[in-house]
Amino acid sequence: MKDMICFEDFLPQGEEVTSLQSRIAEGKLVHALMITGEPGTGKRTLAALTASALMCRAQTGIPCGECAGCRMAASGEHPDITVIEKGVPLSPETAKGRSTIPVDDIREMIRICSQYPFEGGNRAVIIRDAENMTPQAQNCLLKILEEPPQNTYFILTTSHPDQMLTTVRSRCRQVKLSPWDESFIETVLIRSGTEKEKAKKAASVSAGSIGNAIRLVSDDGYWQLREEVMNAFFRNRKRSEILAVSTSWKDRKTDADTVFSILEDDMRRLMRYRIVPDSKPDIGEFPAEWQRFAAEAAPERFANLNDRIREARKQNAFNVNFQAIIERLLLTFTGESDLWLN
Ligand SMILES: [Zn+2]
Repeated sequence: MKDMICFEDFLPQGEEVTSLQSRIAEGKLVHALMITGEPGTGKRTLAALTASALMCRAQTGIPCGECAGCRMAASGEHPDITVIEKGVPLSPETAKGRSTIPVDDIREMIRICSQYPFEGGNRAVIIRDAENMTPQAQNCLLKILEEPPQNTYFILTTSHPDQMLTTVRSRCRQVKLSPWDESFIETVLIRSGTEKEKAKKAASVSAGSIGNAIRLVSDDGYWQLREEVMNAFFRNRKRSEILAVSTSWKDRKTDADTVFSILEDDMRRLMRYRIVPDSKPDIGEFPAEWQRFAAEAAPERFANLNDRIREARKQNAFNVNFQAIIERLLLTFTGESDLWLN
């Protein structure tokens, strides 16, 4: 799945990315970037592509993908790109599998940066999920950010910029990535060999995260569970069958969280259909009464169902009998669909 997304794919994200490209091309990139955005929006990928663009011999601001610099960067073996993340020690002093990035790793990085780059060009330091740096590590990083060595670029990624020291944050130019359009995610999946119908489905439940979509595409168990949830909660019209359906779920407490997530996700799609007229998601897999619900129901009807799902999640956490939880939810959903039958 590597190389699925290229630098150009990020350009529609807006001015922060396009200026990144022109600044690299002009040799005027700021020395510290902080790429932020929700999980799955491609922060790591953009960090890697930016580092690659810095190493590229062509220096157009977009990695050419052909030169030795790009090839080494893509294989993760460029000697002038240093990657720091929690659990992967950079310093021999650091224990494996730590849940933070300790100051020793930052000191080791500073030592590496004090040497002349192997290729004689730029050097890039990527700090993934930078909020995992201990305060001590962040303070140590701050020193080098204040006086960066020549041709050295720091690229931090984080979904939680608020958890970082303000002093570090203010030293970095922020590049904020937004969730992706469903159609773009679909295109990426198809490009990587996913069959069209599956790509469309995965994109529609990915919540704008390419990472989610990629993970879901190859998770057959998830798709089967989705289908079961659709059958039980949306396609089942008979109250008389609720007991039988809930009984069939009684030993599946391990699936509980995924079931609730799928239901929440289904509700989000129905709601988006209702409130965002321009980007109507495909709700063709829902039966007619639920499509009517999506087109006409008042906001409080949506809120009610969402509340019921949240409540079920809570009850499950408190070990209420899973079959009873499912039965109550089924009653709620069947009751709602009854209102929208012809
Ligand atoms: Zn290149």
